[in-house]
Amino acid sequence: RTVYVNGEYLPETEASVSIFDRGFLFADAVYEVTSVLNGKLIDFEGHAVRLARSLNELGIENPISKEDLLEVHRELVRVNEIDEGLVYLQISRGADSDRDFVFPDPEKVKPTVVLFTQNKPGLAETVKPMKVISIEDIRWGRRDIKTVQLLYPSMGKMMAKAAGADDAWLIEDGFVTEGTSNNVYIVKDGKIITRGLSNDILHGITRAAVLRFAEEAQMEIEERNFTIEEAQNADEAFFTSASAFVMPVVEIDGKALGDGAPGKVALRLREIYLDESLKKAV
Ligand code: PLP
Repeated sequence: RTVYVNGEYLPETEASVSIFDRGFLFADAVYEVTSVLNGKLIDFEGHAVRLARSLNELGIENPISKEDLLEVHRELVRVNEIDEGLVYLQISRGADSDRDFVFPDPEKVKPTVVLFTQNKPGLAETVKPMKVISIEDIRWGRRDIKTVQLLYPSMGKMMAKAAGADDAWLIEDGFVTEGTSNNVYIVKDGKIITRGLSNDILHGITRAAVLRFAEEAQMEIEERNFTIEEAQNADEAFFTSASAFVMPVVEIDGKALGDGAPGKVALRLREIYLDESLKKAV
């Protein structure tokens, strides 16, 4: 596999980053994951805009223009012959000459830019009815910034796996915030309910697109908090992310939703999302 590091395309075995890189030492880095379908990028624009915002919130100077970023994405998809899969992008504050909590002078460090692809044949076709458990949300308060601090989400997925489930929904002050790596929704009497945007959750690119398509399809949407009990008593539930698109949730903390099968609204939104996103893919 060919990867990209700071302006160079290299075989993955020859690519390297300094041990003093702040992404490695302090999780001082942001990332994006963009899906690839039919060899094209889904919603590249949305990911580029959010990346710029994440960098800005952390005071990291954006080291690469949107045009160059698109070019690197496309080149990696081309050389690695990705038909269906993902492009992972990470930008850290860069490598300081030592380990120091204080941010280095931007004049002295250059952000580290890394991109690689993941081949995922069958990505668009795979619909897995998901079982989730709920766990406490103990992450930091700026979940709107897409940082690489993914230890707790990783632990959450491991807890889910140990419990025989597929993912974990995070609970704060009695309300569901989001999944470990996705935005979450419930459906009751045809109405789509999802938490509103704030610093408490990541502003999903897929969320924005799906809510737009739902609105265009005259579906009713309510942006508000909901509890795990309300979710367990909903007609259906689902989550969205760039790598899973729209995925039905059929069980929450051991309780089956509705008739236990993937919900109609979730499946319809998945179809619309894939159709519409593909039309605009670059
Ligand atoms: N919420 C969290 C915590 C995530 O990590 C992700 C994606 O990685 C999402 C939501 C979904 O965002 P997107 O649709 O932009 O992939």
